[in-house]
Amino acid sequence: MSPLHKSPLMGEMMHVPLLISTIIDFAARHYGSAEIVTRRVEGDIHRYTYRDCARRARQLANALSGLGVQMGERVGTLAWNTYRHLEAYYGVSGSGAVLHTINPRLHPEQIAYIMGHAEDKVLMFDLTFLPIVQGIAAHCPTVKHWVLMAERSHMPTDDNIPGLLCYEDLIHSHSDDYSWPQFDENAAATLCYTSGTTGNPKGALYSHRSTVLHAYASAMPNALNVTSGDAILPVVPMFHVNAWGLPYSVLLSGAKMVFPGAALDGKSLYELFEAEGVTFSAGVPTVWLGLVNYCLQNNLQFSTFRRTVVGGSACPPSLLNTMMDKLNVEVIHAWGMTEMSPLGTVSTVLGKHRSMPEAEQRKIRLKQGHAIYGVDMKIVDDAGKELPWDGESFGHLYVRGPWIVSGYFKGEGGDPLVNGWFPTGDVATIDPDGFMQITDRSKDVIKSGGEWIGSIDIENLAMTHPAVLQAACIGVPHPKWDERPLLLVVKRPGLELTREDVLHHLEGKIAKWWMPDEVLFLDGLPLGATGKVLKNKLREQFREYKLPTA
Ligand code: AMP
Repeated sequence: MSPLHKSPLMGEMMHVPLLISTIIDFAARHYGSAEIVTRRVEGDIHRYTYRDCARRARQLANALSGLGVQMGERVGTLAWNTYRHLEAYYGVSGSGAVLHTINPRLHPEQIAYIMGHAEDKVLMFDLTFLPIVQGIAAHCPTVKHWVLMAERSHMPTDDNIPGLLCYEDLIHSHSDDYSWPQFDENAAATLCYTSGTTGNPKGALYSHRSTVLHAYASAMPNALNVTSGDAILPVVPMFHVNAWGLPYSVLLSGAKMVFPGAALDGKSLYELFEAEGVTFSAGVPTVWLGLVNYCLQNNLQFSTFRRTVVGGSACPPSLLNTMMDKLNVEVIHAWGMTEMSPLGTVSTVLGKHRSMPEAEQRKIRLKQGHAIYGVDMKIVDDAGKELPWDGESFGHLYVRGPWIVSGYFKGEGGDPLVNGWFPTGDVATIDPDGFMQITDRSKDVIKSGGEWIGSIDIENLAMTHPAVLQAACIGVPHPKWDERPLLLVVKRPGLELTREDVLHHLEGKIAKWWMPDEVLFLDGLPLGATGKVLKNKLREQFREYKLPTA
């Protein structure tokens, strides 16, 4: 990055720090009656308004100060997408403390590790996670207060948790008379650990400024297009990368917010989408597979749901096509990562694409997309030389921007940047229009005879076969070629499928030397805590596997 120069003539605009509290204040004042609806963990439907949420967030801020939480100290949450979690988003960060969202799908030992690393002072958690908390409480010496996010009537009698507090009692015993403190917009606001498949998880520490800028940029029409006319249900969890910023972008836009709580199965989601008139949603491909299957099996259509963002891992073409053609839901493919708050690119077609045949437009939609303003990107070869944006050359994807990490919490893992750019660990192409397409994670790339084979392309193609439910392609050792592709397939229940069917389906659609050397059928693929296929587990499992060509 070039050095900052001091200008002889400075602008004369107000210096208003970009603080998260400004979002909830704005939301309550300008869209006060907008609704927040939650399917509670307790099972019932709860509804209130932005104004109520702001009031309770202020009560929470008072309560945290009563518990002795200081600015910059971490408050952990182990919670689903609910109104109480939203109150924590604003009450904790707004008061100057740091909200540490924890993924409950991690192993309890890992949860205790990151809570210790983050030095959480308070942990707020949902009823569902009581057993986890009971298991780890004795191993979390930094935590001074445990708060169960429930009413008194749901408090357990034998909890084994020292000094367990009831969230509703805590809120009700504090006034909503609270003025959000003003401080440097670069102060830490939230903390999220990467789901790192190797080594210990590392913390991405977002600032108020980065969060507010990301909320602005992600709400724009070419990005997620969040408007006051929408009813938005984030399926993507608030415990991982702040639900892609929706808890902020929805509130600053005045949309209705609908939270699914713990019920993420196809039936529960469908019922909530219909009952609350949801228009827009966001989630990882695996979630949509569940909902789409439920709709198809029961011959159901959506009355209001028209757009969804799919990201977190590559959107299979079959999913995009089914959602668009059979359910009339526009799929917006997006890419990002924990280190990027997370949004980097969104695949919204350009004006000039709209006159192209539908099949061509689909190819663009299936790319990971165009950078949103604020994110710069480039692809480089192994030597760090920038590669052309020709849609063909693929290389390591580097990014930079105001909502991308400059380092990890407590300097974990050293300086991740290369000449001011963050190496994403993804391998991608960028076309002349700036649309980026991921061919692989660098560590998942299959290296055959010194050339790279992109596993995502092969998986996506395999999944266009009607009898393929899921597919994962990994490199396995080969004496001649170093590595060759092995395709692992989960069949759609009730349908017949042979290895020859799969290979025949791929033939002619990919380069000959990309053809998998073998196809094996599995009952399921191992998924990580954020719903992504764990390729390292598969590689481990098939390390000794001898390909028929070997
Ligand atoms: P995480 O930090 O856990 O959110 O994981 C970030 C990684 O997920 C990225 O570096 C990509 O490898 C992968 N990823 C996210 N979105 C997509 C997408 N749309 N297509 C392919 N990979 C994706």
